[in-house]
Order: sequence, then C-alpha cells, then structure tokens
Amino acid sequence: MNRDSIERIRNYLDRKLDDYLDILRRMVEINSFTFNAQGVNELGRLTAEIFAERGFQAEFVPSKRSDFGQHLFLYRKPTSSSMEQAQPTLALISHLDTVYSPEEQEKNHFRWRIEGRRAYGPGCVDIKGGTVMILMVLDALREAFAAEFEQVHWIVALDASEEALSEDFSQACLERFPAHTRACLVFEAGNIQEETFKLVVARKGRAYFQVEVEGRSAHSGNNHQNGANAIVQLAHTIQQLAALTDYQRQLTLNVGVVRGGTVVNRVPHFAQAEAELRAFSPPVFEQAIQKVLALQEDARVISQDGFTCKVKISLLEKTSPWPENEATQELFTVWQKTAMQLDMKVAPEKRGGLSDGNFFWQHFPTLDGLGPAGNNAHCSERDPKSGKDQEYVSIPSFVPKALLNTLAISALLDKHEQA
Ligand SMILES: [Zn+2]
Repeated sequence: MNRDSIERIRNYLDRKLDDYLDILRRMVEINSFTFNAQGVNELGRLTAEIFAERGFQAEFVPSKRSDFGQHLFLYRKPTSSSMEQAQPTLALISHLDTVYSPEEQEKNHFRWRIEGRRAYGPGCVDIKGGTVMILMVLDALREAFAAEFEQVHWIVALDASEEALSEDFSQACLERFPAHTRACLVFEAGNIQEETFKLVVARKGRAYFQVEVEGRSAHSGNNHQNGANAIVQLAHTIQQLAALTDYQRQLTLNVGVVRGGTVVNRVPHFAQAEAELRAFSPPVFEQAIQKVLALQEDARVISQDGFTCKVKISLLEKTSPWPENEATQELFTVWQKTAMQLDMKVAPEKRGGLSDGNFFWQHFPTLDGLGPAGNNAHCSERDPKSGKDQEYVSIPSFVPKALLNTLAISALLDKHEQA
C-alpha cells in the first residue's frame, strides 16, 4: 500500500469524523445501563438503523435474563453468494450496555459534552466509541478496498449485558459464527501510552465466591462461652483468602464485601463475605480456586462446649482466563506489521479486566483493545480537587486507530486469499 492511498483513507476518515462524533453523541444520549432493558433495546434499534444504511441485517436475540435487553447481531453477506464457502467471515464485537444508571448520571451531571480533545459521557470509551470505531473501519474498507469488503461475511455482534458478565451472549455467538470464522475482533478501549497503541492479547480469568459462616449465638454478658463467633471465624477465613494473593504469579484475591452480626450484646451467629480471584494462567487460576474451596474444612472458632463454626464457600461465577496463545499472537503480528507501514507503534497488553474475548479465544483467533483510547471507564464522578474525573474518549485517537484497524483487516484478508 503506497503513501498516497494511505493518505487518501486518512483524509476520508478525517473528513467524516464530525459525523462519527454525532453518531457517538446519539448513542451516548441513550441511557443503556445493563439493568435498563428499555434503554439497551433503544440503543440496539438505533445501532441497527445506522448499520442498515450500510447493508447490514439485524437480528435481535433475547437475553437469558428477562430483565436484560436484547443482544444485537448484524450481518452482511458476501455479494457473490456462489463463492460463499470460500469467503472469510469476520466477527466484530462490541456491547450495548454501560454501568451507569439514569439516577447516577443525573446525580453526577454526567452527560455528553466535548471539552477540548475529549468527548465525555456514559459509555464514551466503554464501549460506544468502540461501536463507532467499527463503523469507521467498515466505511473505510468499503471506500478503499471495495472488492475485498464485498467478499467478506461480516458479523457485528453487540452484547446486551457484557458489564454483568452474563455468558448467554457468547453462547449465542457460538451458535451463529461459522466454525471457519477468521477472527473475533473486540473493540474495547485501546490505551495509548507514549505514542504506543496497546492491543489486548490476554485477559485474566475471574472467580467470584461467597463465603458464609454459621456460628452459634449467645448472650454476650451471661453466656459468652456458649457462643461460636461467626465474625471472628470469618476474620480468620478472610486472612487465609487474602494470603492467596501472589503478585509474582499474577494472581490476586480480593475480599470486597463483608457483613455479619446484628447487635453488639450478642455473639454473632452469621457472617458473610464476597471475594473474587483473578489470574492469567489457567493452571494457576484452577489451583487457586481449589485452595479457596478447601478453606471450608478449616474452621477454627469453637465454643467452650465444642460447637464449631461452619464455613461454606460457594463459587458463584467463573470466567476462565484468556491466556497468551498462538492464534492471538498471529493476529497481533498482522497489526504490528501494519503499524510499521504507518510509522505507528503497537505493543501487546495483558489486562486484568474481563471482556467477551475471554469466551472467544478458545474457538476463534481473538484480538482485543481495537477501540479508541480514553480514560476513567466506569467512573461518573468529577471532583478536580480529589483527582476524580469522568469517563471520556480521546477524539484524536479515532482516526489513527481506525486507519490501523482498516489496513490490518485488509492485510488479514489478503493473507486469507493467499492461504
Ligand atoms: Zn466494555
């Protein structure tokens, strides 16, 4: 690809940037909190409309949970259907939902606004800016590589409840993506550090536990010795849980919620905690889960007459890690080579947070972090004195990242043709 053609695509994207920001504004102005199904569905309809202008057909798929909105699948089949078998399928992944309730947005005056080079608003970078990035890339591909664009079976898949980590979206994807799908490209935010564009090649897995301790209550004045203090037992268990954190093995265990007891003149008969464990390496992750569950056998608080506290640990949710792997590395290399042509720098990033990528990598080559850059995802508060600021997307990050994605996808399709 020569300089002139590259500059032509860049100019095309630059010229249209205001239109894309206007689409982003319309998306951000719809509250699509995971638990606001109506809002999620409204955003789904707007998104389907915008993609319909580009020849995409929409399928709305109900969530497993009736209080969540509908997942959205958008399809564009290759124009020459006789060759469909040989045509590559590319899946572009985003989500519809955000973490902000309408009340929270209102309370913190968190709404769409542009300040200098930043666009602020709920979901600006996580992930509505990513959905707009998908549009930019598809438009640029159609503009600059019309023949290749028409040959691809495009699937854009938008999760209605990514922020709630529900797994039914990935199941719906597996039912719909053909087995030969060339790549799952996830448009979560991509950081830029020292002019280096970070692409996500691995993510930690997450296990979510509930710890319940049953003790025996007693009058704290008259019969303290007959009580088995559930809070004291939980305190032991919490120390054991926290001790599993091992930064060297990139394993963390965070106890995030604790409750227990009723009144102070009673030995408490119950206490509860919630904890989550995260790790990159599948064996480290699985081993740690077993260690957590084994703590159930290790109750230490006993009343004088021999009542032992009962510790019950339940694994409520589990999302396996997306470790570094060859298929992801191969995709990363395509992006890296493209970046070199553009005098841009890219680097791989392993991220602690989950995305839909965690579900895809075992089935299809997966690369993540293809969205624009920004900051403060999941934060709606602004207080300059204490250093708090709201979620924003970096406006100047759109065009260079879209250019990189466009040329990398084109290179990926060339590779497909040669194979
Ligand atoms: Zn996200």
